[in-house]
Amino acid sequence: MEKSIFTRIMDGEIPARIEYEDELVIVIHDIAPKAPTHLLIIPRKPIPTLMDVSEEDLPLIGHIHKVAQLLAKKLEVKGFRLINNCGKEGGQEVFHIHYHFLAGF
Ligand code: 5GP
Repeated sequence: MEKSIFTRIMDGEIPARIEYEDELVIVIHDIAPKAPTHLLIIPRKPIPTLMDVSEEDLPLIGHIHKVAQLLAKKLEVKGFRLINNCGKEGGQEVFHIHYHFLAGF
């Protein structure tokens, strides 16, 4: 399977502004921000879409929510949107699951 653009960023092949990383996820600034703060929370595991999430991935999905909480505290934002676009018809462009963290409206 071809590496996704996000895996290439994790592997250091493509530059990105990294806001946070741990053993399960990386958080980068979106290249085309749709809000004053627009981050992408991306699991290291290259799951293509939300529809491909299995039972064993559920702790990882929970972790993403915990990371969103951490980012809100770190960036001192009072509210945010956490969005997953699922599938081509859901507006997904990069087929490596990720959550948009949008704040500062
Ligand atoms: P999707 O539409 O798949 O939910 O969102 C993909 C997001 O990835 C878009 O908001 C797009 O701007 C962002 N993106 C695509 N390529 C790159 C890249 O090379 N670097 C960064 N930082 N963001 C990217």
